[in-house]
Amino acid sequence: MVSVTLLGTAQDGGVPQVGCECCSNLTQRYPVSLGLTDADGGKHLFEATRHLGEQLRLWGCTEVDSVFLTHAHIGHVDGLGLFGKETMAAKGVNLYCSKSMVELIERTPHWSNLLSEGVFIPRVASLYQLPGVTVEAIEVPHRAELSDMHAYLIKAEKTLLFLPDHDTWQETLRGHDLRAWLNHFEVDIALIDGTFYSSDELKHRDQSEVPHPPVEQTLQMIGERREGDGEIVFIHLNHTNPLCRDETPVTELGWKVGKEGMSFNLS
Ligand SMILES: [Zn+2]
Ligand SMILES: [Zn+2]
Ligand SMILES: [Zn+2]
Repeated sequence: MVSVTLLGTAQDGGVPQVGCECCSNLTQRYPVSLGLTDADGGKHLFEATRHLGEQLRLWGCTEVDSVFLTHAHIGHVDGLGLFGKETMAAKGVNLYCSKSMVELIERTPHWSNLLSEGVFIPRVASLYQLPGVTVEAIEVPHRAELSDMHAYLIKAEKTLLFLPDHDTWQETLRGHDLRAWLNHFEVDIALIDGTFYSSDELKHRDQSEVPHPPVEQTLQMIGERREGDGEIVFIHLNHTNPLCRDETPVTELGWKVGKEGMSFNLS
């Protein structure tokens, strides 16, 4: 059986976010991450966060066969070093990511050691075949300060889209309708960017520095869940997102807010 477990549902900073008073009453959320179990029981981790220890425990797993990375922003990669000799001392873990991500790893002393010591074996492709499941990388526009960004389509009998970060729907959809775009990729379960609920959520910062399509806009675009629609699950929640306290605006339309431990059977 092929299955995916949600191991983290927060934006890169996690919840609680460092030094934030607003988070004191919020349930903990780890930075975004997924665990994919293939048809032979192989374990494939999406994103390497600093909460890797807790996340593998939640998944009931002590080692992984591979790691997929979407992009280089901190919460998605700051656990890479945990695979090295100071911690897991892993060997030969497949590292599935883009060419620009591998180049960044090669240029970053802490990470390049992980390659020279054989912890990770980089494997750059756009389509990866695993037992009973394929994983396809789809490039999406997202602040490319350090690397490009790829969403992933995880396809077995059912298809799951992992799109934790992107800048705007306009750029990602390139003129297509959101529902038509999801249908085009035959998505049954869409785990999508729910960083901010609204466009004025960061009171003391310029929100245009960290563009993400607000959930409010996504809900307007997709409306209520209809007969034949797949599931949409909002993930990558910033600590300021009111969905961390009350999920009603999403659930009343028939969609979901991600929670650590949620799992999805794909075959
Ligand atoms: Zn992120
Ligand atoms: Zn907070
Ligand atoms: Zn990002």
